[in-house]
Formats: sequence, structure tokens, C-alpha cells
Amino acid sequence: MEKTITSEAITETGEMKRKHYDMVINGKRVAGAAGDTFETFNPATGEVLATIALAQENDAEKAVQAARDAFDHGKWRKYPVGKRSRVLNRIAEIMRQRFKELVKMEVLNSGKSVGAAQVQINQAIEDFEFYAGAIVGHRGKVNNMPYGFFNYTHKEPVGVCAQIIPWNYPIMMAAWKIAPAIAAGCSVIIKPASLTPITAILLNEICHEAGVPEGVVNTLPGSGAVVGDYLVKHEAINKVAFTGSTPTGKDIMEKASKTLKRITLELGGKSPNIVFEDADMDAAVAGSLFGIFFNTGQSCEARSRMFVHESIYETFMEQFIAKTEKLQLGDPFDKTTHLGSIISKEQLEIIDGYVQSAREAGATIATGGKKLHLEGLENGHWYAPTVITDVTPDMKVVQEEIFGPVVVVEKFTDEKDVIQRANDTTYGLGSAIWTTDQGRATRVAHQIQAGIVMVNSPFSAFPGTPFGGYKQSGFGRELCVETLDLYMEDKSVLAYYGAKPINPFGV
Ligand code: NAD
Repeated sequence: MEKTITSEAITETGEMKRKHYDMVINGKRVAGAAGDTFETFNPATGEVLATIALAQENDAEKAVQAARDAFDHGKWRKYPVGKRSRVLNRIAEIMRQRFKELVKMEVLNSGKSVGAAQVQINQAIEDFEFYAGAIVGHRGKVNNMPYGFFNYTHKEPVGVCAQIIPWNYPIMMAAWKIAPAIAAGCSVIIKPASLTPITAILLNEICHEAGVPEGVVNTLPGSGAVVGDYLVKHEAINKVAFTGSTPTGKDIMEKASKTLKRITLELGGKSPNIVFEDADMDAAVAGSLFGIFFNTGQSCEARSRMFVHESIYETFMEQFIAKTEKLQLGDPFDKTTHLGSIISKEQLEIIDGYVQSAREAGATIATGGKKLHLEGLENGHWYAPTVITDVTPDMKVVQEEIFGPVVVVEKFTDEKDVIQRANDTTYGLGSAIWTTDQGRATRVAHQIQAGIVMVNSPFSAFPGTPFGGYKQSGFGRELCVETLDLYMEDKSVLAYYGAKPINPFGV
């Protein structure tokens, strides 16, 4: 059944208005062909929030056909670039008007603190504004040629893109994917994580309200193993942009290779945070705390391996642990809450399992290390911010991504040695350096094998800065001008305008 495309999710008094969300195919809200649904939860309370239409393969096929038709025969890619840019700005404008609603639904569906949701939704808005501007100046080149010849590169959208995203930044990840793709003129099918589908669906509806034509943005809530897999293998899909775990990324790369799809992979991390002896202590403590515990540690670039110079170790750790214990967990809507909940019971058990493994391997749990039962939120999923010391490089907690509020801490004595240890990981996404020596900052930054190096800064991403990994953290950069090229082909148009006809064979 088809319904009006956009409607608000909350009432004027902030109550949830919609208890069911459909998928969006070809500009229409539709129930799946089989009529299947699944429940989505508030992880802070464990309560059911809404039911969601569950896409199956035949729904995915309809979405592919709609996106293909919009790309092959539609007007979006043919619009003057200024018109596409205006629509992207309009998306941002509507998101601003509906800011409170988006924040509310993001907090309810992800359990993150209201402060974190506000920052992330602001960034999602700015992503649309950034690409509205960036696409206008993004053009091909005229190349040097022998006399009589003329060559230019024409940038063309790559086609239909499947965009598969995780649950940790539901609307921000959707914006990172949709904004550059549609700015470039592509059509997209976005598959949100099953745990957090609501704001990705709302964002799709907003795209249509802003004037994106039917079929250009389609949203398919459903299982990764069913609809994700179907899209990745589909011959009519030209590109897959994936953000998620490294094992899923490897699986997608293998399957996408069968049809030689273009792919971008933003995967997991185990990012080092190096505190040198000359660091500004207050800045390093505060920044390292944010670096691991923001978004409750459920962040791909969480700086989850801390290296502290031995000469400042005692002082630093005393302050770091004291501040960790001051972090407030609780009602995500309370403005004083620093850390929201863990996304699911399964994730909570995974985190606790890692901490138990560290205990059994002989590490010290300096603080935290336990599930929390918060008053009034007993059915939610809560974990204490955890600091683990006395670790050895072979421990699982040192090697593997935990994706929770858990940091492991090691001492170091020498710059060369800490660079080698920081790089001793299969991942290469983020990293941070705390030092007041600019020469050292540059020297170390250039030797760290990671896509992002933060120097005396807790923040890793702003619209315009490249975001992406080295090694098994994936490849391709998002959030920057260059991302547009990941959604475009450079066509070389080579012409001859010389006076005499060319006759290479001379016959
Ligand atoms: P996940 O890999 O389990 O799932 C990500 C998405 O892929 C979901 O939408 C899921 O349904 C889908 N999926 C699962 N199996 C699939 C398959 N076989 N084929 C196609 N799609 C499939 O990851 P997650 O648990 O949702 O997210 C956490 C992971 O995401 C962490 O490893 C984290 O580091 C990573 N992440 C990376 C970045 C980055 O920019 N590098 C950003 C955020 C999260």
C-alpha cells in the first residue's frame, strides 16, 4: 500500500507519533511484498519503539529497478549542477527545521546521549551543505595534447549505488553516503542497520520532501545477509559503499568482485592514542577520555589503545581514571549524561566477554569492568567505562576491536618503539598524538600507518576532511571533496581538430 511520503515522527509535545515505518521505494512508503515486519528497540530501556517493514529479496529487486530506471531514464543526473546543489541545501534546511524530531528519534533508537546525537545530526546537515557546495566546483580537466588534438575529462555519475551502513551513527552514516552520491548524480539504495533503521527512513522521506525525484533515493530496512547480500551480488548495481565490520567488508569485497563493482570500504579499527612526556597534561587527559568514551566507545575510530610515556604514566593515569569515574551514565535525554547505552544485549555480552578474557589473561581492571543496572533503566544495556592496564600485546583486548567503552593502556619509553607498537595492528583507521613538540608531532604523524592522525585534538572528522583507513580498516575516503570521485567516472573525450585528415595506415 502506498502512503504520503513524509510525516513527522513526533507530536508537538514530543510524543512518538508513528509506531510503524515502511521502507521507501521509488518515492513511496511501501510495506514489503510479503508484509513482513520486525521490531526496533530503545536500547537504553529495552522497550519496543516501533515496527519496521522488513525488506526481502523481491523488495530489493523493486528498489534496484526503481534506482536503475531513475538513473537510466530520469532527470536527476541531467539537472544543471546548480539545481542538484539547491536540492541538497533544501535537504539540509528541512533537517534543521526538524532537528528536534531527528535528535529525539536518534536518541530513542540508538541509546546515545542527547549531546552526542545533536552533534552528529548537525554534522549530517553540514554534510549535505558541504556537498551542495563541493559539487558545483567539481569538474573535469582540459589536458595538454599534441597540436590539433583536444582532450577533456568529463565527470559522469557512476550509476546505481548500494550503500550499507552500521548502527553506531545511524543518520550521520546515512548522510555520509547519500550526500556525495546524489550530488554526483547517482541513484542509491541505502540499507540501514537492522538495529537502527528509523532516522535513515526519515532522512529518505526528507530527501523527497526537498525535491529529490522518485527512485533516486531508496531505503531498504532488512537483514544484511538477505537484502545486503542481494544488492552486493546484483549485476545492475554499479557500486557498493559499505561501512561496517572488517569481516563483513571482506565478504562484500569478494562478492562484489564477481561483477567488478566499484567499492568503498570503511571498516573497523583499533586506533592508538600516544601521550608523550611533553604533552599538555590537561588537554591530553580530556582528549584521551573523549577519544575512547564518546558514543560509549561504539566508534570505528575510538582510540582504544593508549600508550603513555613512563615518565608521566602515574600522574596521567591517576587523572585519567579519576575522570573516567566521573563520567555520567543514565537517561540519554538528560543533558548531564555523558555516555548512553550499549546498542544491544548481544553487544553488551561481547564487551563483557572481552573484559573477562583480559582478567583471565592477567591484566588489571583499573576501573569499570562490569555491566551496570541503572535505576529505571534496568532492561537497558549498560556497561561501566573501563580502563585495563598491565596488558601484553598478545591479549585479545589489545589485538581486536571491542566496540565498547573499554581502553587498554601500555607504557612506553622511546619514540621509535611506540611508533612500531602503534603500528602493530591489522587495522589503520584513526590515531592520536599528544605532544607540544611540533617537530615530533609531524615526524610521528608521518610514520603512523593510519588514515587519520589527530594531533592534540580529540576530533577526527569535519565535513571536508578525508575519513578512511589504511590496511584492514578499508579503503576510499569519505566526507571530503575526493569522495565525489568515488561516485563518478572520468571519461576521456579525445578529439582531433587539425586541418589535415589523419590517415595512420596511409592507405
Ligand atoms: P556489520 O558489519 O555487522 O554490519 C554493517 C552493515 O552491513 C549492516 O547494515 C548489516 O546489516 C550489513 N551486513 C551484514 N552482513 C552483510 C552481508 N553479508 N552482506 C551485505 N551486508 C551485510 O557492522 P555493525 O556491527 O553494524 O557496525 C560495527 C562495525 O562498523 C565496527 O566494526 C565499526 O568499526 C564499523 N564502522 C566503521 C566506520 C568507518 O568509517 N570506518 C564507521 C562506523 C562503523
